[in-house]
Amino acid sequence: IVSITRLNKSFGAFHVLKDVDLDVGRGEVLVIIGASGSGKSTLIRCVNGLEMYQSGRLTVDGFQMPTQADREIGGEKELARIRRGVGMVFQQFNLFPHMSALDNVAIAPVRVRGRTREEARASALRLLERVGLRDHADKFPGQLSGGQQQRVAIARSLAMEPHIMLFDEPTSALDPEMVGEVLDVMRELAGEGMTMMIVTHEMGFAREVADRVVYIDHGRILEIGTPAEIFDRPSHERTRTFLSRVL
Ligand code: ATP
Ligand code: MG
Repeated sequence: IVSITRLNKSFGAFHVLKDVDLDVGRGEVLVIIGASGSGKSTLIRCVNGLEMYQSGRLTVDGFQMPTQADREIGGEKELARIRRGVGMVFQQFNLFPHMSALDNVAIAPVRVRGRTREEARASALRLLERVGLRDHADKFPGQLSGGQQQRVAIARSLAMEPHIMLFDEPTSALDPEMVGEVLDVMRELAGEGMTMMIVTHEMGFAREVADRVVYIDHGRILEIGTPAEIFDRPSHERTRTFLSRVL
């Protein structure tokens, strides 16, 4: 569903992603690990077009993501089509503070998908139920805990019926006691067959839920394998050093 070939990405003179090759299959859960500044966020932001890349090839759902040069000559239509199928959840939940949880989830389907308000609210309620927040549908973000807000953010992404979900450190901004409830929702999504690319420092979760783990080092994929391969018998010294610091 995602196919990345020799992708290169720079910010000005700074070469962030170097010849990245990566395929994500339908229903696969891929966890991306690596040191701060190694390019994890940049990589998944490329997958939904939040960052532009300069060379290589990136396709999502069979559509080719325009390169920076393509975009300059008007590749925006392709971009919009790809984005519709890709959900993204960030460290900061970015909910609309003046809207209830329900409206936060229902707004995009109405505005972007042309759903009626009634349809959108009914499915938003089902999604809130799925993330365990049906009873909180009428609350505003300020009345919800961080973990609850992040679950609303997940429901909001799901409301667009994405084919793939991207998560960039979804639990890093949470108090420790709220991490579990968000990981539970993600675990459930994985169990339902959602394709996911997840950047996380939750190594226990990665080991349990990932089909494959990718270790990125200075913008290069140094190692990719099953959780057992990466965590129990990494082949590179750098991976071992990184893991010994985080495990
Ligand atoms: P972290 O674990 O801290 O989130 P990361 O692996 O997600 O790190 P990225 O955010 O992808 O790292 O950043 C990779 C490199 O690119 C870093 O050196 C960062 O400073 C640089 N970088 C990221 N965004 C920009 C930008 N908009 N302009 C210039 N440099 C950037
Ligand atoms: Mg990051």
